Amino acid sequence: MPKPRDYEITKRRKIAHGKGSRWCKRCGAYNGLIQQYKLFLCRQCFREVAQHLGFYKYE
Ligand SMILES: [Zn+2]
Repeated sequence: MPKPRDYEITKRRKIAHGKGSRWCKRCGAYNGLIQQYKLFLCRQCFREVAQHLGFYKYE
């Protein structure tokens, strides 16, 4: 379950851009986010689900 990051739940100020404006959809982390291909997963979660999403690991 991802940590609640919704503005309405956390009551924190809305951040338009930069760190804190986007988070991992899977675990809620702010760090190491992958925005490429509209993934919005942190690098740790991406490693776990990449193969399920159809990414293939080379070398
Ligand atoms: Zn994550």
